[in-house]
Amino acid sequence: MKGVAVLGSTGSIGVSTLDVLARHPERYRVVTLTANTGVDKLYEQCLQFRPQYVAMADEASASALAQRLKSKGLRIEVDSGVAGLKSAAAHPDVDDVMAAIVGAAGLAPTLAAVRKGKRILLANKEALVVAGDLFMQEVTQHGAEVLPIDSEHNAVFQCMPENFRDGLARVGVERILLTASGGPFRTKPLAELESVTPEQACAHPNWDMGRKISVDSASMMNKGLEVIEARWLFDAKPDQIQVVVHPQSVIHSMVEYADGSVLAQLGNPDMRTPIAHALAWPERHGSGVGSLNLFDVARLDFEEPDTERFPCLRLAYEAVTAGGVAPAVLNAANEVAVERFLDGSISFPSIPRVIEQTLEKVTNGDEQSLEGLMAADREARGVAEQQVAARV
Ligand code: NDP
Repeated sequence: MKGVAVLGSTGSIGVSTLDVLARHPERYRVVTLTANTGVDKLYEQCLQFRPQYVAMADEASASALAQRLKSKGLRIEVDSGVAGLKSAAAHPDVDDVMAAIVGAAGLAPTLAAVRKGKRILLANKEALVVAGDLFMQEVTQHGAEVLPIDSEHNAVFQCMPENFRDGLARVGVERILLTASGGPFRTKPLAELESVTPEQACAHPNWDMGRKISVDSASMMNKGLEVIEARWLFDAKPDQIQVVVHPQSVIHSMVEYADGSVLAQLGNPDMRTPIAHALAWPERHGSGVGSLNLFDVARLDFEEPDTERFPCLRLAYEAVTAGGVAPAVLNAANEVAVERFLDGSISFPSIPRVIEQTLEKVTNGDEQSLEGLMAADREARGVAEQQVAARV
């Protein structure tokens, strides 16, 4: 039986992961869970899954949870802060770690699991955007394993030959075709984007996700972050990664080979499929997702992405091509801008403006140590907040 840690268990991916785990009690045991402030949800999960250890980033929330577990007579160890999250990830009884904390906050706990040689089921794409080079080096150094959870990267993984780590050219892979739904504003008149609300941005046509990734999908920064994620997961050059807008979200991505073959992975848009795939790999087991009805889907459409409508996609390609700390700066500025859009401080089209100005103001360098990347992240957050303030 495998021991599993679910980092970010109270979020959209976390809840879907627990749903899949609960379908296979003979195969998996939930050992650790983590959250930030969601005491009620984590308490309910503790009652259902009886983990050994839980951690909350927020100290006051951890105390409140510990109190409630104690009065219920549950003997579950509760810890807090980044140290607690790292312990949950690196716990000795854990084999597989679902890395599903949102944002750069997921990097340190996920790296802690990498350093213990765990199998990482990686949903937290921001970890690779901020520190892709360092992260993949540590994976190799510590004999860890990374299986992608992002539906696109999981699809690419499924379409790759087993030995893709020998190098894409050697195994005959020409291009990765990352599909994108285009989000809720794909066809909205540009002039109307200035007044869209957070609720409209979070109403994704095909996927039900957390608020940050929903806004990223609406701006297509999500696809930009995924281009950077794919660059590191598959050791691909940015110009080998083509984004294809595919509004139905049925093809989750494709791999093109030197002989002209294009392999695709299809399925209903439900994250339990890639989660179950990565949990069971190299075997397969059920996920709770229904069978794909191609007669209902009826047609598959494809469009080129419009970088005038979605400047975030252009900014992400520029950042990954520039290298150095630029992707970390891009990510930090995006996290600030999305949060400020969600709290009503800036308009939707201000998101790329804040990011572009932050990228211009923070000097790029080739620093790749964790400390250096974190310093760039902090500086970028400060500069991005200044750009937000200048717009309010
Ligand atoms: P949610 O916002 O739904 O959940 C985020 C989780 O992270 C929650 O458990 C939250 O705890 C926790 N969390 C938030 N901030 C912190 C922090 N500072 N320290 C520790 N924990 C924190 O996000 P999603 O589940 O949508 O996304 C999670 C990750 O997976 C993201 O990186 C996203 O890009 C990626 N992903 C998501 C997909 C989806 O369909 N949702 C698809 C592909 C990738 P609390 O509840 O207490 O706030």
